[in-house]
Amino acid sequence: MPRHARGTYYRRRRRGRKVNVPWTITYGDTKDERAENMVNGTVPNTVIRRNYPPLSNQPIEFDFITYTRRRGLRQRIDSDTGLFNDVQHRYVEFIPENERNRTYVYVRSQRYGEIVSGPRSTRSNPIDTGIRDGSILKTVYVVTFNNTIETGIPINCSCPSEANSCKHMIAARTLYTGVVGQNMLPLPNLNLQFSAVLKF
Ligand SMILES: [Zn+2]
Repeated sequence: MPRHARGTYYRRRRRGRKVNVPWTITYGDTKDERAENMVNGTVPNTVIRRNYPPLSNQPIEFDFITYTRRRGLRQRIDSDTGLFNDVQHRYVEFIPENERNRTYVYVRSQRYGEIVSGPRSTRSNPIDTGIRDGSILKTVYVVTFNNTIETGIPINCSCPSEANSCKHMIAARTLYTGVVGQNMLPLPNLNLQFSAVLKF
């Protein structure tokens, strides 16, 4: 079903109202395409330029969702610091070579930067699990791997998706293991690992 979103500036000015842009055009047709857009640092047309997810050569502090309400758990928000230093790492955190033994990666929401209340807000879909800074969405998720980010596969993401592999997991794996797309081989004991991860 098409969601409400901003049209181009030209069309908004000409028509003087918001236009319907389908979710697939705004964020990507498939999960793989949405992941690819994130890896390429492509910002959806629902985000105006001054609200683009910021890039910096210095680590920045941010809030992230540790897990969502799904699976009967309450959403919890924590904070940490990380590097989002170039276009390729606009959404997927940059992890320096000497920290590649880590087993988790922070990934910004594809909706990061959308205005979700008040004037100029997008009406794409309801915000139930997002992190907001005033009227702007600044949600960050954490993707967990079953081993180091370069040798493992992603086994969990703190986003609301119920899928076994969401776009954040695909994007993180694409950048750090070089395996593109969602054709990952599930491990036989994947469910056990899921429960283990969700317990901390
Ligand atoms: Zn996710």
